[in-house]
Amino acid sequence: MSSTGEKPGKGVYVCKHCGQTVVLDDDTDTLPPCPKCNHTEYHP
Ligand SMILES: [Zn+2]
Repeated sequence: MSSTGEKPGKGVYVCKHCGQTVVLDDDTDTLPPCPKCNHTEYHP
């Protein structure tokens, strides 16, 4: 599990609440809150 504020590395993360995908394209990017529902936990 990955949460907002973490830097889990490059990849696609799926919001646990609504299924919205967030793409991190750099290892230094931090996960934002879900842009759709503002949830903060993601499936890796
Ligand atoms: Zn969401």
